[in-house]
Amino acid sequence: MGKADLHTHTTASDGDLTATELVLKAKEKGLKTIAITDHDTIKGYLAAKDIAEKNGLQLLSGVEITAKWSDREVHILAYHFDSADSRLHNLLNNQAKARRLRMKVIVRKLQKQGIAIDYEEVLAESYGGNIGRPHAAQVLVQKGYVRSVQEAFIRYLGSDVIKNIQTEYADIPTVADVIKQAGGVLSVAHPGHLYSDSDMEQLLSFGVDGIECIHPSHNFDTQKKFSQMAKANHLLITGGSDFHGKSKTDYDPYFGIVTLGNQHVDALIRTSENRRLTLKKYSYNE
Ligand code: AMP
Ligand code: FE
Ligand code: FE
Ligand code: ZN
Repeated sequence: MGKADLHTHTTASDGDLTATELVLKAKEKGLKTIAITDHDTIKGYLAAKDIAEKNGLQLLSGVEITAKWSDREVHILAYHFDSADSRLHNLLNNQAKARRLRMKVIVRKLQKQGIAIDYEEVLAESYGGNIGRPHAAQVLVQKGYVRSVQEAFIRYLGSDVIKNIQTEYADIPTVADVIKQAGGVLSVAHPGHLYSDSDMEQLLSFGVDGIECIHPSHNFDTQKKFSQMAKANHLLITGGSDFHGKSKTDYDPYFGIVTLGNQHVDALIRTSENRRLTLKKYSYNE
């Protein structure tokens, strides 16, 4: 029986495939369930709904939200929310605005380093998708400053100067509140090499529902460690390939390979449905 991939990207953010292409590829790989988790947008998910249904592929609503956490950023995956929720739409519109403002600052920092790049070029490279560093990386490749997107991150886009840029992203409590009120569930994305045990303790204290235990950046021991952490805290186990297509990250070969068992998808849906029942109960009482 086909498995699940709850972490994928499309051209609505920094992926190479359109939503339709991704659904067809998922089908070809024999997946039963996917979630499209573009950065701070659900446009890819919305665009995939019909084609997924026609192909008998289970598609969960999903998004990977960049949240502010003191002076750091954390990627929070959200699933199975009401995609028509107006507070969610407001939040995502603000996130998109924050991305555009941040990219303008990134471009200025690069210009100061003597790089001939402008915001319009990066915007054009995003092809209407939610703008991010991978689009700037593509421009640096095209202009011959670096030979690959990875090199662009190592030499320029992963620097402290860029990491320290102040953003207008939402904070974690806001993200958690909006997603939960929309009936969704939250999972800490790819914690593997990013967070210490005390970081994790703090992140879990915000009331997330799950941990992304399965991810291409996690080796067997990492996967086991986070799965045990999830079980000990009665949290969901989520996972996926973080597929972006060929040109952006190293995770391309893992699509259809790094997968999640369907029992975890069922548990996720149950958590969301219980949450929705509670929300309904409260609104009836009003
Ligand atoms: P942003 O959302 O603008 O902060 O960009 C983050 C995205 O850049 C991640 O989701 C990845 O897709 C990509 N990324 C981050 N680090 C690297 C890297 N070292 N090499 C290639 N892509 C990366
Ligand atoms: Fe990405
Ligand atoms: Fe991420
Ligand atoms: Zn991702």
